[in-house]
Amino acid sequence: MARPQTPRGKCVFCAREFTRGGLVRHLTACPERAEAIAKADAGRGRTQRLFHLQVQDAWGGDFWLHLEMDGTATMGALDGYLRAIWLECCGHLSTYYIGRAWTGTEVGMGRRAESVFTPGLKLLHLYDFGTTSETSIQVVGVREGKPLTRNPIYLMARNNLPPVKCAVCGEPATQLCTECMDDDSGADLLCDVHAEMHECGPDYLVPIVNSPRVGMCGYYGPAEPPY
Ligand SMILES: [Zn+2]
Ligand SMILES: [Zn+2]
Ligand SMILES: [Zn+2]
Ligand SMILES: [Zn+2]
Repeated sequence: MARPQTPRGKCVFCAREFTRGGLVRHLTACPERAEAIAKADAGRGRTQRLFHLQVQDAWGGDFWLHLEMDGTATMGALDGYLRAIWLECCGHLSTYYIGRAWTGTEVGMGRRAESVFTPGLKLLHLYDFGTTSETSIQVVGVREGKPLTRNPIYLMARNNLPPVKCAVCGEPATQLCTECMDDDSGADLLCDVHAEMHECGPDYLVPIVNSPRVGMCGYYGPAEPPY
């Protein structure tokens, strides 16, 4: 599925839009975020190590998330989050590796984030060992403070879904034909009207949602954050 380059995404604190890399710099400087942090730190709750994670699909990098994760949460909590927002189709197995996939050091789901993460660390998350989704996770920052949420993970930004056009009429595409997907011509993208008329039939159509797993295995979205 052909997509335009470098999708931008919104900072949840100030609603301004940046690129994936721009947000690494922006989030450290965003006045609204600083205000939210000061407010949380003045309130109740325990001071933790909080990790800023830049998460992206390992191939194109067009799909990305900026997350803040509580260091006392487990790697399983992050796995659950990634499944909910991007990956879950049929309950496949998943794992983490530091270094290369399959040959690197495996990281157990029961480990606490703070026992794994160090600034600059990169790890790979694999979901489904058949039609595998590879997600790269980089620790781009760490701070000591009170979490902004009771949940283990706080979504600070994600990419906007790049608009794609129907191959037939040029209107916004909403469906992808997985049968036509492999020829890379763009003929796989369809609006609702032309999806209904499409020659391959409804069994091959999947909704286009904001996830790198669209078109893979039995994935149908909804690509919404769990909280
Ligand atoms: Zn901001
Ligand atoms: Zn599946
Ligand atoms: Zn159309
Ligand atoms: Zn088709």
